[in-house]
Amino acid sequence: MLSTIWKDFLTIAQEEAGSRVVETWLKAVSLYKWDSETETMYIEAPNAFVKEWIQSRYRQLFELHLARLLNVTTVKLIFFAGSEQTISENHTVLPARKPVVASGIKNSLIRKSMQNIAGHLNPLYCFDNFVVGSNNSLSYAAALAVAQDPGKLYNPLFIYGGSGLGKTHLMHAIGNEMHKKNSNAQILYQTSDCFVNEFINAIRFNKMHAFQQKYRALDLLLLDDVQFISNKEQTQEVFFHIFNVLHDSQKQIVFTSDLFPRQIQGLAERLRSRLEWGLVTDIQKPQLETKIAILKKKSALHGEQLNDEIAEYIAQRVDSNVRELEGSLVRIFAFSSLTRQSVSLELAKTVLGGSCSTYKNSEKVDFNKITIQVGKCYSYSLAELRSSSRAKELSFARQIAMYLMKKMTDRSLREIGAFLRRKDHSTVIHAYERVSLIIEKDAELRSKIKLLEEEILR
Ligand code: ADP
Ligand code: MG
Repeated sequence: MLSTIWKDFLTIAQEEAGSRVVETWLKAVSLYKWDSETETMYIEAPNAFVKEWIQSRYRQLFELHLARLLNVTTVKLIFFAGSEQTISENHTVLPARKPVVASGIKNSLIRKSMQNIAGHLNPLYCFDNFVVGSNNSLSYAAALAVAQDPGKLYNPLFIYGGSGLGKTHLMHAIGNEMHKKNSNAQILYQTSDCFVNEFINAIRFNKMHAFQQKYRALDLLLLDDVQFISNKEQTQEVFFHIFNVLHDSQKQIVFTSDLFPRQIQGLAERLRSRLEWGLVTDIQKPQLETKIAILKKKSALHGEQLNDEIAEYIAQRVDSNVRELEGSLVRIFAFSSLTRQSVSLELAKTVLGGSCSTYKNSEKVDFNKITIQVGKCYSYSLAELRSSSRAKELSFARQIAMYLMKKMTDRSLREIGAFLRRKDHSTVIHAYERVSLIIEKDAELRSKIKLLEEEILR
């Protein structure tokens, strides 16, 4: 049964995340065991790097589709690396509940994993593992201050900055630090996406009271990517009251977002003003030295040594964000481990250079570059491309942007949809297919898009 499910899952994943992701990452892991009693799927990865990479990027993909394929409402995932023999598990609210010990998995493995559990918090995302540079020092200092004296100094703390620059990391670090100091503190890390879904379910199943109680009982609320509650009036309304209750009783609230509060569209004014009540800090792209320090820290965390030459090579190649920087490192170590070669500059060049042009693209191209060029070409602003207007020309320009995002980056359909503020990522598939079809026949559009691609790559 597992092999059929795995096959079906890979087919869906290919659609959604692209074949590169499937070939490089997903095929490296396997379904180890399904425990129907606890509705838990154990997934084995060849090493810790692959495990973490997949966990941090594709957990939702696994959760969503495995649940459907297994015909259950939610599936609990436990990723573990065969080589290092650890299993980690996720819980929602601190203090952590006792784990369900599944038959067939050695108790020692479970015990070892228990030390790592801290709610939905990733224990690796702590202050000690965060490299401070001029790009993030203010946010780091503010986060540390908030963790040491929650609810007093900066409430709420609002951290904003581009994707993959360490916002979520800092948020978890605050949670981990507070948990270390007070293991009874009620801490919840939640993405705004999940918050919205939880709210909708609470309405559907008549559980509003429990929903509000859960949030109001917290000592620390970490709400990640708050931009996703824009245009959701009812959710904002409820959140507004939760915010007030927590704030009035001096409970700490931390937000992150890709935008400064005032730039988030579709946010009720009174909520927006509250987001700015405390301290608003930003994170910028790291400088070369910081990138090198991050690479070395990440390697050391996995018990690997990275020499200066290789670190500098990677740091110079990746300029966009830390997640991609880490991604390059992961690919190198995963490749070295899977092919049993030691890590060298040559190997790094093979993995990151030459053969895979899409990797190069994904490091040079980002969503902003694409929307800027498409916007220029069709005379629309980013706000217009993100708007809900379906005016014919604007819709077409938006579809071109989606097409190029899918073609030129390895980001998922979901990420593309979210960036352009679309509710459903099937819009992206539709756009991609439509544009592909049109340019097969329409030479003029084909060359227009080719020029656009060249501009974006420049
Ligand atoms: P964001 O939430 O801003 O999109 P994340 O917090 O998810 O970004 O960071 C992406 C990855 O980069 C994480 O693995 C994180 O640990 C790492 N990272 C980002 N900044 C730093 C830093 N200054 N030091 C160490 N790791 C970092
Ligand atoms: Mg984040």
